[in-house]
Amino acid sequence: MNVERDVPLARLTTIGTGGPAAALARPRSLAELGDALRFAQNEGLDVVVVGLGSNLLAADEGVDALVIRLEGELGGVEVEGTSLRAGGGATNAVCLHRARDAGLGGFEFACAIPGTAGGGVKMNAGAYERDWSDVLERALVVSADGSAWRTEAELDLSYRHSGLAAGEVVAQVEFRLEPRPTDEIKRTVADLVARRKSTQPTNKRTFGSVFKNPPGEIGAGRMLEECGLKRHRIGGATISPMHANFIENADRATSADCVALMNEARRRAREQFGVELEREVAFVGPLELEYQA
Ligand SMILES: Cc1cc2nc3c(=O)[nH]c(=O)nc-3n(C[C@H](O)[C@H](O)[C@H](O)COP(=O)(O)OP(=O)(O)OC[C@H]3O[C@@H](n4cnc5c(N)ncnc54)[C@H](O)[C@@H]3O)c2cc1C
Repeated sequence: MNVERDVPLARLTTIGTGGPAAALARPRSLAELGDALRFAQNEGLDVVVVGLGSNLLAADEGVDALVIRLEGELGGVEVEGTSLRAGGGATNAVCLHRARDAGLGGFEFACAIPGTAGGGVKMNAGAYERDWSDVLERALVVSADGSAWRTEAELDLSYRHSGLAAGEVVAQVEFRLEPRPTDEIKRTVADLVARRKSTQPTNKRTFGSVFKNPPGEIGAGRMLEECGLKRHRIGGATISPMHANFIENADRATSADCVALMNEARRRAREQFGVELEREVAFVGPLELEYQA
């Protein structure tokens, strides 16, 4: 198994920040994933999986871990009947195209979520009142202790949350879809993509939603907009002028710039709304927010 050293995580994240990973492996099969996990155990390294890095902020000083990116057959997609079986590293875009070509609907909501099947399980990703839990049959979870299929219920999915522990890798995902005419799928996707483009920054370097929506009527984006935070800038990072729950890498931003913006956003939301915003973005390496309730 080939292990790369000191690869900057800025290359593996959509926001484009993050220092080097101590080690990076790109397993292409379950056997190679097993090798990678054994390597990490022997070297005493933590394991961090990176999908498309589309909801990930990695420390500027780097990460003392084995970073794993699933490729090859672990990024492939197969359709059997109404079941779509994807490698944990398969992109949502490829899953959606394969489903559409097979005349299977149900996954359209993921058209504007730029992640992978496995990353979607970990985050229980969702949009437009649907999320992974609505379409997930089961997932193959692999760790240093072995591998097992877990049902949607066993994965303990709720709003942007799963019960997956650190070091557990989603290697395969089975989605249960339903027959739907290809033209209808195309129309729904075109409609959702147009809606997305009119409300969120889709052509900037971001990591998607910064914070989860707090309970109650008003979402995190609206709240931060009412705090006057749109366009607020620290270093090279800016709160999006289009949607205040997004941070854009405007000009050579660092992860520290993003964390400073997050701290400021939480401070203002606490002061103005009495709400403690909880981050949605996953942190990798030594990153911390200033104040935890
Ligand atoms: C423009 C934009 C729009 C977005 N819109 C949405 C949206 O509408 N809804 C939404 O929910 N999200 C959205 N996101 C966030 C992001 O796309 C999702 O959270 C996505 O599911 C993350 O998948 P990923 O593969 O990129 O995971 P990563 O960002 O690489 O990782 C996220 C977390 O999942 C873990 N992980 C990744 N792969 C695996 C695996 N195979 N096994 C175990 N753990 C794994 C990582 O360790 C990390 O903890 C958006 C992001 C962007 C940039």
